[in-house]
Amino acid sequence: MSPAIRVSAAVLWPELGFEEGVSLSIRDGVLESVGKGSYGLDLRGLIALPLFANAHIHIMDWVIQQAGWDLDIDSLVGEPYGVKYVLLRRAPDDTVREGIETVRRYLIRQGVGAIIEFREFGVRGTRIDCRRRHKHHIVLTMPTHHDERAVEEVEEALACADGVAVSSPHYFPEDVLRSILSLAKARGLMTASHLAEVPETREAGDLERLLGAGGADVLVHGTYLSEDDLSTIASRGSLLVLCPRANRWFLGGEPPAYEALRSGVELGIGTDNAGWVKPDVWREAEALHLILRSKGVSSPEPVLKALIGPSTLAGLEPFAVGSTASFMLVSAEGVGARWSRNPLLSLIKNGGPEHVMAVVIDGRLEYCELPEALCAGLRDVLRGR
Ligand SMILES: [Zn+2]
Repeated sequence: MSPAIRVSAAVLWPELGFEEGVSLSIRDGVLESVGKGSYGLDLRGLIALPLFANAHIHIMDWVIQQAGWDLDIDSLVGEPYGVKYVLLRRAPDDTVREGIETVRRYLIRQGVGAIIEFREFGVRGTRIDCRRRHKHHIVLTMPTHHDERAVEEVEEALACADGVAVSSPHYFPEDVLRSILSLAKARGLMTASHLAEVPETREAGDLERLLGAGGADVLVHGTYLSEDDLSTIASRGSLLVLCPRANRWFLGGEPPAYEALRSGVELGIGTDNAGWVKPDVWREAEALHLILRSKGVSSPEPVLKALIGPSTLAGLEPFAVGSTASFMLVSAEGVGARWSRNPLLSLIKNGGPEHVMAVVIDGRLEYCELPEALCAGLRDVLRGR
């Protein structure tokens, strides 16, 4: 019999069922079975669930905490003269590296297995942690140049990046935009762009400009997209990443989460600028849930899908039989699941980094807050003992 763990419950992917009294057996780092059972290392009191994805973050911003906090969005993060760019340009690489590592560890301890990051400063930015990154930490390079020099810059940066990120389609001439997106596509890498974050960029036709240059896999914000725009995005199969707390902080409005769902757009959740918005996907998930509820959607399922689904874009297999063992263990007591009439809703509403007790990524125990004997036991199970 394969080594196993026994938990109080598990959230299964992709059906999002909440199954109680579950054992998970693991063979050679692969999840061999998940189902009703009472065998294995006794981890009752914990709920196993798939890891989350933070599908949009600017991690570098962490080291310029709350800089220019009373400025408008353009003065703060507009390229290239916004306060953010002026300060980060002067920040030593070691400082930035330390900030990236702090945020990365914090994301893991909240059960985030996949990160999709917009990385500023072109070649310099991607080299800061080249070849030291976690496998599912996707870094998309943002070129510093916006004219034809951007093409060469992206070509060089892609040696240390997983794709290209466009700050705004309006920043680039259309042929340059097409060229930098094509460079990533030709290598099978990811393309992403901010989109319709404020009314002005949408009115100036940012979606048309991006589509004219071939489109991107991942679109971020979409606050001012119309229902027609959302249908177009749904038909192209792009992921739309919503960052409701960043939109609120930067006074950008509320993303059309309900309309996007109704149009069949696939959603992700991102925490955006780490210097001004706490990089906590649990908080972000609650913010998204409250927006959906205001439009009559009280079910937690769309929010869980948005938290888990984008992991695959970062090469992380969600928790399912036959996949590499990647999951988190959350305290059932902490989220009130024992007394809950709707445990998935309790996870979204009461969940948080403080209730994540262990995180397993690709068969490795990356974080463990359980008593040492249980952490050691879990490590043994993952090693096949
Ligand atoms: Zn952003």
